[in-house]
Formats: sequence, C-alpha cells, structure tokens
Amino acid sequence: MNPLTAEDVAPHRPEELTAFRGIEAWIFDLDNTLYPRDTNLFVQIDERIRSYVQELLGVDETEAHRIQKDFYEQHGTSLRGLMLEHQVDVDSFLEYVHDIDRSALKPDPALASAIERLPGRKFIFTNGSRAHALKTAEQLGFKDHFEDIFDIVAAELLPKPQRLTYERFVNRFDVFPEKAAMFEDLARNLSVPKSIGMTTVLVVPSGTREVFHAEWEMEGHDGAEHVDFVTDDLAAFVAEIADAIEA
Ligand SMILES: [Mg+2]
Repeated sequence: MNPLTAEDVAPHRPEELTAFRGIEAWIFDLDNTLYPRDTNLFVQIDERIRSYVQELLGVDETEAHRIQKDFYEQHGTSLRGLMLEHQVDVDSFLEYVHDIDRSALKPDPALASAIERLPGRKFIFTNGSRAHALKTAEQLGFKDHFEDIFDIVAAELLPKPQRLTYERFVNRFDVFPEKAAMFEDLARNLSVPKSIGMTTVLVVPSGTREVFHAEWEMEGHDGAEHVDFVTDDLAAFVAEIADAIEA
C-alpha cells in the first residue's frame, strides 16, 4: 500500500461538504459528541452505573465492573441487562446514573451558533435519558436548537446500534434517511444510518482526526466504509457545512 500523503489527511475540501446540501434532518448523538470526551461526564455516568450495580447486587466494585461490562456486551446497555436479568425500575435507574456533576461542561456558543445555521430539523438521539439530554443541552447553552430528543425510553430500551431503534427514530419523526445526516462519536453507531442512506459524521477527540483517518487508510478499518466524514472539531465542521450550504 502506498504511504499516506498530506492530501489523505488534509481537512475536507469545501466542495466535498456540498454533500450536505439537501439534508433536511440533522441528528446528533449526545455523550462525547455534543460535548468533548475530556469533560469526563460520561466517566461519571459509568461510575454511577457501577455503584448502582454494586448496591443492587451487593457485590464489590471489581465484580460490579465485570457485571456492568458483561451486560453492556450482551445487551447493548447495562440498563437492558439489569432489566432483563434483575427487573430494575427504569426511571429510578436512569435518574440515579445521570445524577452527575455537569459543572465541568462549559457553554459552547460556537457549536450552538453553528448548529443554529443548519437549515432544517435537528434532533438529539441518545442511549441516555431525556432528562440527562435536557440538562446537558442546557449547560452547553442550547436553547431551542433541537426539535426533540429521542432517548433510551423512546427506543423502548433497545439502544443504538440496534437497527430497530433507528427505524423507530425515523418513523417517529418522519425523517427521510437519504435527507438526514448523523453525528456520532462511536463508529459502530453509524453503520445502520449509512446502510439506510444517511450521511455520516464521526466525531473524534480533539487533535486525533489525522490519527483516526490514517489508521483507517492504512489498515482498511471496519469503520471506514460507513463513515463519510471525520472531524475532531464539531463546531468548526458544522460551521463549514453551513458555509458550503449557503455558498
Ligand atoms: Mg456518544
């Protein structure tokens, strides 16, 4: 395989972003997408899930961690595992695990104004709870940016990347996948969107876009074929999309 050239890892050229012309629905994941991974919000949720499991089952932290990861792998979310195997109350679980400190989360006016410029409908599509999405969006400085939030309860507890969950989403909001774009920090959550016709954007941690891009090009990464665009700066990328649409 030829070595990578500067061209391969260069930012997307403006003309490529015209792919977003005609998009009518903009769908954003919440955790580690609308806010950066390094704010450690999701780490807190992860810890709350672990302590919930610890208390519920009367096990130590190591065992709780093992059970949590096992549920996640087998059922897609810890909640689904707890529901199926221990009949936990959904509302109390969601309230407990999302009871976190959001003070590290700074308002993001650049992202807010970039999203505001996108023409069409905007949604948050999360495996978390609606209350968590609302509180987090408020802390980030989003006001009326999003038409609605599709959460894990709306998904009937079946998380992304389950195909049925995307189908429920598009049916609920009458979204045409061919006229929708989806933004996500997990490549596996973009596989179904791409297969049903959406334009897909993978959001990676700041400063790592070149690394991700290069890895894929070199190793034929599984994620490559269902990821149309990669960005490590969502606000700047969305602003570029808006520029390309307006041009
Ligand atoms: Mg996420």
